Amino acid sequence: MLEIAVTRNTRPGNIPAADNLGFGHHFADHMFVMDYETGKGWHNPSIIPYDEFCIYPSAMVLHYGQAIFEGMKAFRTEKNEITLFRTNDYLNRFNRSAEILCIPQVDTKVVREGLIQLIQLEKEWVPDKFGTSLYIRPFIFATDPYVGVKVSDTYKLHIILSPSGAYYAGGFDPVSIKVEDKYVRAVHGGLGEAKTPANYAASLRAQVEAKKQGFTQVLWLDAVERRYIEEVGTMNIFFKINGELITPALTGSILGGITRRTVLELAKQWGIKATERTITIDEVYAANEKGLLEEVFGSGTAAVISPVGELSWKGQKIVINGNKTGPLAQKLFDHVTGLQYGKVKDTLGWVETVARI
Ligand SMILES: *Cc1c(COP(=O)(O)O)cnc(C)c1O
Repeated sequence: MLEIAVTRNTRPGNIPAADNLGFGHHFADHMFVMDYETGKGWHNPSIIPYDEFCIYPSAMVLHYGQAIFEGMKAFRTEKNEITLFRTNDYLNRFNRSAEILCIPQVDTKVVREGLIQLIQLEKEWVPDKFGTSLYIRPFIFATDPYVGVKVSDTYKLHIILSPSGAYYAGGFDPVSIKVEDKYVRAVHGGLGEAKTPANYAASLRAQVEAKKQGFTQVLWLDAVERRYIEEVGTMNIFFKINGELITPALTGSILGGITRRTVLELAKQWGIKATERTITIDEVYAANEKGLLEEVFGSGTAAVISPVGELSWKGQKIVINGNKTGPLAQKLFDHVTGLQYGKVKDTLGWVETVARI
């Protein structure tokens, strides 16, 4: 086992009740940290109190955005076991994002061990209602005190924990999505495949306009022809057309979601034809015209599955499945959450118990 120094928080906070948590407001008492320096590599893995930290005003991340993050969850089962879901897949993607942002690779075994020891220390912070979870946010940013443009020689890694409420506190209701035809999120050869703050910065303006128009989210099209469907920006997207489940192929501008992969693997296991390929917005609208568009839903760690009830493209609105959650979206949601909360037996090695209360 890796030696991780632990400094206890002498002013622990009150663990909030499982109802009314919302998302991303509360933070557990401790965090995992590690430092990087060229020549020395990643060092000082430790667990310390969650608190403010010092960086220079010239820290490179603040000026040129060299940063990456991850988003995963810990769950509490009815037997009070704390489970993690596909941890290694998330950590491997962390390194893929690092590669794209010229950030040094982490030893995923060390980060994994740090994460598990942190969760074991903070297990009481995992809320105990079905649908709630302890959101896990690992992130790395560049810290060289330098305002020239280059790849930083120093970095900080943190893992912070945030108890979060049920995404569907108000019911599993389909969302209304605007197909974005003015702004773009990412281009081939750019950062679209990385989980990096820059992609979120690039999406804010479209998101604000869509919200004003009454939509909950934006569906991004490719940046060149504005025809090929990409993703939602926090979720990947799936279309069920005439019995076939289709999701855009990972062509470089789309984030490879772990939930996306889970959906594809489960669909195949269930004997549903599941295809990764390019798909245009015209094809989706044409399928709807012919009555072949059966379901549309998003996939992501936060919502798991998010049914789409309406799409609006250039002012043309279509309603999917009578604005109701489709059977496949429901089955996927039930199965994935069932695995995570220990109600469905895991046969694929996706779930691990890391602590008991
Ligand atoms: C995190 C994220 C997703 C969803 O990925 P999951 O691994 O399923 O949570 C989709 N798109 C973008 C841009 C993301 O950052």
